Amino acid sequence: MSRKQPIYEGKAKVLYEGTEPGTIIQYFKDDATAFNAQKRGTIAGKGVLNNMITEFVMTRLAEIGIPTHFIRRLNMREQLCKKCEIVPIEVVVRNIVAGSMAKRLGLEEGERLPRPIVEFYYKDDALGDPLVSDEHILALGWASPDELEEIVGMTLRVNDYLCGLMRGIGIKLVDFKLEFGRVWEGDFAQLVLADEFSPDNCRLWDAVTNEKMDKDRFRRDLGGVEEAYQEVARRLGVLPESAEIESLNKDATK
Ligand code: 5GP
Repeated sequence: MSRKQPIYEGKAKVLYEGTEPGTIIQYFKDDATAFNAQKRGTIAGKGVLNNMITEFVMTRLAEIGIPTHFIRRLNMREQLCKKCEIVPIEVVVRNIVAGSMAKRLGLEEGERLPRPIVEFYYKDDALGDPLVSDEHILALGWASPDELEEIVGMTLRVNDYLCGLMRGIGIKLVDFKLEFGRVWEGDFAQLVLADEFSPDNCRLWDAVTNEKMDKDRFRRDLGGVEEAYQEVARRLGVLPESAEIESLNKDATK
């Protein structure tokens, strides 16, 4: 674990000042929260797995031309990223009805949508991340029209690519949440994909059995949470040796 002072502590990650100018370090914790932090717990080894899975996904996305904040993984729990100004919007893409969409609209979970649906939520824990429209985003100046167009374009490319990648390892990509940031170079801001991509912020169902392989196992007390995260990492080919995870779990809460 880094000895530097944290600049921000979130629910699942701690951010530290980076080792190089214009960088930050993302430290992945085992802490898990759900329902706007009303439910709390830990998932042993989650931080290590989410670090590995995020590295894998961000690297693949960079290869297809999606700009990301990811620079490199530093160790089992930390990665070096470009410092960016987070756009205060959570972008959710849905391919299959689940979660809050099923609840809000009274739909059956599991119904495949005729096309991917992009939703926006205003990033504000105190308000419970409310659903907003593009009108709110533009009128309230959270992003410019050009930025919003770029965000939606990148999000749909990420979705197309990751649906195929997951299908190749027998997983349905049901939905996921992305965050974007601005990396400033003088007066010019480049939009980059930020935060993480892991079973904490997506829904993954086994393509054959529809078994849940993501944080819904924690949210809904389904058991087998650690095993599900490990299985995702194993199928992606990034599961560390079990001995390595066990030794890291011992100092996870330090
Ligand atoms: P829902 O709106 O159905 O609760 O979530 C849709 C998708 O976005 C799910 O894959 C969920 O994990 C992700 N998501 C939505 N809001 C958040 C959030 O505040 N934090 C995280 N980690 N994921 C979120």
